[in-house]
Amino acid sequence: MRQSKSVIICGGGIVGLCSAYYLAREGYAVTLVERNGADRDHCALGSAGYISPSHVIPLATPGMVWQGLKWMTNSRSPFYIKPRLDGELMRWSWLFWRACNRAQVQRAAPILRDLCLGSRKLYEELDDITGNTFELKKEGLLNLCRTQEGLDHEAHGLARIANELGVEARVLNARQTAELEPGARMDIAGSVYFPIDAHLTPWRFAGAMTSVLKEMGVRFQWNTTVFGWRTEGRRIAAVQTTSGDLLADEFVLAGGSWAPAMLAGLNLRLPMQAGKGYSLTLPKPRLHLTKSLILTERRVAVTPMGDTLRFGGTMEISGHSNFVRPERVEQIIAAARIYFPELSDADFAGIKPWFGYRPVSPDGLPYLGRFNRYGNLTAACGHAMLGLTMAPISGLLVADLLAGRKPRVDLGLLNPNRYA
Ligand SMILES: Cc1cc2nc3c(=O)[nH]c(=O)nc-3n(C[C@H](O)[C@H](O)[C@H](O)COP(=O)(O)OP(=O)(O)OC[C@H]3O[C@@H](n4cnc5c(N)ncnc54)[C@H](O)[C@@H]3O)c2cc1C
Repeated sequence: MRQSKSVIICGGGIVGLCSAYYLAREGYAVTLVERNGADRDHCALGSAGYISPSHVIPLATPGMVWQGLKWMTNSRSPFYIKPRLDGELMRWSWLFWRACNRAQVQRAAPILRDLCLGSRKLYEELDDITGNTFELKKEGLLNLCRTQEGLDHEAHGLARIANELGVEARVLNARQTAELEPGARMDIAGSVYFPIDAHLTPWRFAGAMTSVLKEMGVRFQWNTTVFGWRTEGRRIAAVQTTSGDLLADEFVLAGGSWAPAMLAGLNLRLPMQAGKGYSLTLPKPRLHLTKSLILTERRVAVTPMGDTLRFGGTMEISGHSNFVRPERVEQIIAAARIYFPELSDADFAGIKPWFGYRPVSPDGLPYLGRFNRYGNLTAACGHAMLGLTMAPISGLLVADLLAGRKPRVDLGLLNPNRYA
């Protein structure tokens, strides 16, 4: 036990919470520093709640550059980059473009698979520990395709790659899909079914983890903003916050899309863009779903959460702007109407759109590992569309690193110094 060693986790999102859990279990005295209060919003809360080993293909893929360029100018498209003169955005775009190649996908996919499958298993353990409070459903995920062309594309692309990597993917026609999900009428050609995927209710998970952490003695430093660091040679001595300088043996950077800003003054580079996404949660849905779904051609996620039903999606690279683009929210509603003819605009009337910022690295892989320049500073951020899925395994890997163990997943490609 390392009761005497202390660690400060900077950022109280889902990755920060899970890192706190595995480090406290390791025997560290953990303090979690979060700029907002205990009732804060964070990116996982409005997410689709997927735990998705099916997502073995990173965001940066060979076809993505041309698709992205086509979509770029259209603010209604699933992936939209708001054109602006910004050096960080230009550098990120260049690195993204460089990552969009087959060799990178082949390198990244097995790592994503290992991270996602590892996390899927950890969620089952966490479900036991927290007394099944966060509605973990191991029902799988259906990628619904409206057209035969779309289904063929999924079958020859994602489904083939997933099966090759040992993540089972079954191609189903419309009838077979309807048999799996009888509570909704779907206007589709078929689907790809990933039985290993699961989903949960994010706010319940965050609440359950916070309670467990309190019982474990984790200290929460709410309403405390990180704005700088005190260094001594190649070590961090203290993190400077609005509650004063906080000292510790180790520091974990879990600031999501704000992680690069948190590094202020350290002269460290962590290319990242905030990928804004929206979700709409129907409190009393007319559809009764059991599985999480993707409306594939429209890139919209649908998840049953308790009695509610959540629709989420869109990736908007426009900085940390609080502006809600109505046309993007409308695209989510339009997709819902197209795939589920029973739904109309009236089902979404009065539903307030939620939005959050995914922390998007240029190659779609998280930053997990120690910084070369400061031996006691570890990155746990940049999980893009998979932060909820990968939070537990990320926390466990951070604990491996700090304990000096060989990490159970190869972290070579996730090195936070890779763009230094
Ligand atoms: C619409 C949508 C749907 C999604 N669906 C899924 C899904 O189904 N499955 C999945 O795996 N992922 C999903 N994601 C992605 C996932 O939600 C994110 O990857 C994940 O939540 C990121 O968690 P994080 O802890 O790294 O960052 P965040 O949640 O952003 O947490 C960072 C925390 O750091 C705090 N902070 C920032 N700056 C400071 C500072 N200076 N000082 C102190 N604290 C600070 C912030 O307040 C915040 O609480 C979705 C995202 C969106 C937007």
